[in-house]
This record gives sequence, C-alpha cells and structure tokens, in this order.
Amino acid sequence: MDLRYGKQRHLDYLYRRLQQTCKVKSRTSVCYVENLNRVMNKMLGKSSKSKKVKRLGCCFRDYNRFYIYIEKNMGFEIKAQTLVHEWAHLMTPFNVPDHGRKWAENYCKAYRSVYRTK
Ligand SMILES: [Zn+2]
Repeated sequence: MDLRYGKQRHLDYLYRRLQQTCKVKSRTSVCYVENLNRVMNKMLGKSSKSKKVKRLGCCFRDYNRFYIYIEKNMGFEIKAQTLVHEWAHLMTPFNVPDHGRKWAENYCKAYRSVYRTK
C-alpha cells in the first residue's frame, strides 16, 4: 500500500474505495474509538467482564445507517484489515450467519478492492 499521505488519510482513502466499489444498502459511518470493548459493553448494557475476547471492530445498524467501530489503539495494517472485515458484514444480509459463505464471498470482494495489485 502507498502510505505517502499518512496512515489515517490512507484509512480514509480505503473507506472511500470500499464505498465506491462495494456498495451497501445504507449510508455508512466509520468511527475509530479508544477501548472499543468498554464502549460496546456500555452500548449493549453488559458488564465490563462479560466479553473476554478483545474486540478489534464491530458493525451495527442504527435507524437507516450502518456504523463500523474500530479500536483506535492498533497499528495501521490491523485497522485496515478490520475495516475490510467489518465492511464485508455490511455487504452481507444481517439474517445470514456471521462469517459464513456469503460473508466470505463479500470479504473476498472487499479485500480485492483494497489490496488490488497493479
Ligand atoms: Zn466478523
């Protein structure tokens, strides 16, 4: 990847690229948040001990908008990969299994649009 414009700007570029090449049915927002586990537990009304696995990212729908939340305290590459992973969820109907066949196909599409070779 070409990082000449800086890492956050490059993440923004990847996000725009996903928007253009891998259309989803609602408008989207991507938020980079510190301590995603705590934020999500609060949103879901769970105690801070209820999720042992550290979340890197998550996505959800609120009214007619899709949101992707990504942990801020991570390196560029893992943020980029998390963005692609979560975007594949937005491309996939919410009533099919997480990380199933349909999601995997969409993940491939999203991955190729971001990590295309020249
Ligand atoms: Zn997932």
